Amino acid sequence: MPRTPTPLKGKTAVITGGARGIGRIAALTLAESGANIALLDVIEDVKATAAEIAAKGVKAQGYLADVTHTEQVTGLFKEIQGTFGSVDVLVNNAGITRDAMLLRMSDEDWDKVLAINLRGAFVCLRAAARYMLKQQSGCIVNIASVVGVIGNAGQCNYSASKAGMIGLTKSAARELASRNIRVNAIAPGYVKTAMTDKLPEEAKAAMLKMIPLARYSEPQDIANAVLFLASDESSYITGHVLHVDGGMGM
Ligand code: NDP
Repeated sequence: MPRTPTPLKGKTAVITGGARGIGRIAALTLAESGANIALLDVIEDVKATAAEIAAKGVKAQGYLADVTHTEQVTGLFKEIQGTFGSVDVLVNNAGITRDAMLLRMSDEDWDKVLAINLRGAFVCLRAAARYMLKQQSGCIVNIASVVGVIGNAGQCNYSASKAGMIGLTKSAARELASRNIRVNAIAPGYVKTAMTDKLPEEAKAAMLKMIPLARYSEPQDIANAVLFLASDESSYITGHVLHVDGGMGM
């Protein structure tokens, strides 16, 4: 069968943290493949990004929402189901860093990172699964990180949250597989976004030395993997962690 340029036509994709960075490029990529897009983010830019996506000719809506807020998320998924007619793809992308060496890491920085990166992903996954279970189909893509696999000094909270996301991915994949819902994770390495832009130059240079392909990743590298895992091209893949890191984590 010839491949269609719009494999996600008529599907609805929900992308958290979709206002900027990886989430924004993933949303644009899924939209170019035909998907209607619902963006959730805590920053106002979510509205402008949704307008940018709608200009591609798909339905797009930006919602100001905090993924840690269970009631807000549950209500929004209900609204999205009503407005768009289905929830077919969830990209759990919202995430933050609060880096510090172990002895200087506060309980607050630990809790904040775990709450947004891990509990937020769980809250959204559970909310999406409610609708996916009813329709007996769906794809969930969790954006983890190479440091969830290999660890990183100064990122105990962040790497624990991303390792947790990998466990969440595998357990949910086992639980939902019989209902035709696939759950996978992507483990990016170093991606050029606002999140990494704030790192000191020495840290960036040290990171580059750890990447066999000898370049930082562009958000598009991750978005391409999101499209693959959100489409039928990956229909026999679930519970997988796709490393998109230039070889950093091997
Ligand atoms: P960005 O900071 O550019 O974008 C993340 C977006 O998520 C921001 O708009 C952020 O808002 C938003 N966000 C934060 N907290 C919440 C919340 N509680 N609810 C909803 N939205 C929220 O990050 P990236 O695009 O770089 O990263 C995207 C994902 O990829 C993250 O999960 C990150 O951990 C992961 N990743 C990134 C890598 C990289 O090198 N950049 C490498 C590996 C993984 P605000 O600006 O207010 O924080």
